[in-house]
Amino acid sequence: MLETQKKNDAVPDTEKDFILKGILTVIKKVVSAQQYDIWFSCLRIFSITNNSITFVAPNSFIREWLHNHYNDLFSGAVYKILNSSREVIFSSEDEVFGQSSVTPFFNDNNAHKVLDLADEHYTIPINKYYSFENFVVGPCNRLAHAAAVAVSESPGHAYNPLFIHGASGLGKTHLLHAINNVMKSKHKMKALYLSCERFVNHYISTIRSNSWDSFRELYRNVDALLIDDIQLFENSQESREEFFHTFNTLYNAKKQIVITSDCPPESIVSLEERLISRFKWGLLCGIDNTTIETRIAIAEKKALLWGINLSHEAASCLAENISGNIRELEGAIARLSREEKITKNSITCDLIKKVVRELSGNRKHINIEAVIEAVSKRFNISVSQLQSKRKTRSLALPRQIAMHISRKLTNMSLMEIGGYIGGRDHSTVIYADEKITKMSMKDKNLQLILQKLESELQK
Ligand code: ADP
Ligand code: MG
Repeated sequence: MLETQKKNDAVPDTEKDFILKGILTVIKKVVSAQQYDIWFSCLRIFSITNNSITFVAPNSFIREWLHNHYNDLFSGAVYKILNSSREVIFSSEDEVFGQSSVTPFFNDNNAHKVLDLADEHYTIPINKYYSFENFVVGPCNRLAHAAAVAVSESPGHAYNPLFIHGASGLGKTHLLHAINNVMKSKHKMKALYLSCERFVNHYISTIRSNSWDSFRELYRNVDALLIDDIQLFENSQESREEFFHTFNTLYNAKKQIVITSDCPPESIVSLEERLISRFKWGLLCGIDNTTIETRIAIAEKKALLWGINLSHEAASCLAENISGNIRELEGAIARLSREEKITKNSITCDLIKKVVRELSGNRKHINIEAVIEAVSKRFNISVSQLQSKRKTRSLALPRQIAMHISRKLTNMSLMEIGGYIGGRDHSTVIYADEKITKMSMKDKNLQLILQKLESELQK
């Protein structure tokens, strides 16, 4: 859908900004200042066609929320400003920029726009949703939060680089944006936030357009470079090389670099030693899985921010029924709020359990072949080795990991799992599952490998 819109969209960016301002002015009159800051201040218009207008929200959660709660409000405001009705579409940054191999800003026809990109990034509306004030601090993220605050207050001096790692949905992107916001709004710095994927896409399109001067000018003249999800460099050796030089230039000029990843540097497969050692020059800090107390505090904070009635009992019930990932917690709160709005019933623990069950039922169905393939790839062995009966130690651990993950993520019976993985019986699968569970409680590295494999499979 976005592809076709791109083609039809002939409205210049300046005009889009003007239209957006008009629409937001209409909206501002009917929502509270707090609601405005959270949901609307960070929106952009992606495209305007004869039939539709597409807004880009910073993440899929805000997109969902806007779609579910404010569609009518937007339709009215759009009508007022454009004098004709259009379908209102909400999209997210990930959808617009992450999925396509070449982003609209970096395709060949737009090579000249590289510097516009710089302007766009430096002037991108501050995303107040991802602020330090809205970030709940607990034992799992205390160090990462403190380091992020220190870096935003004293860029280039506190810790350089700052490397934050942790599993998906634990607040890495939130902290990166929060740093970006403080640097821009308080220190008026040229901070550049971008995902690693975007850097790689930009690198690829620069190979084609050969516009290396503007590429280097963009990255090497910033006051701070904030790069999200660096593990995505794994498959892109040449852009890693370019990043290495960018890193050196910025580091030598005492410019702040902040990096996030879903695992520590040494666990990023195929990352060269020289990059790993550079990442360790500054401060490495991990975000651990949230504790139940932190999840309760986050649920209460989100409910307060979004104006939802969530009692302490309901927040506790929610925190008990949802494991670590805060993105899932947010999704559940959004769903509960909708249920409450439609049925006019208050949020009870029964309702919470129902919603959580439904949400986890909606998760992508994962088949065992995908698990076997992912584990083989991670341990650099072939699928047939993993499925063989050979008892070498180097194969035993990956096999047990595959059994553990299959038990957790697939709907297959113990017998079926055993059959697929080395023709074992059900007791072997139970043994493997328990062994890996116990080992992962003590072994942080194994914990990270499991988290990464599971989040890849659930994508
Ligand atoms: P990651 O980048 O680690 O995958 P995100 O930063 O995207 O995770 O966080 C997912 C969602 O959870 C975001 O909407 C974020 O606001 C929220 N979140 C995560 N941790 C916290 C926290 N400690 N306090 C408040 N919100 C949080
Ligand atoms: Mg992220």
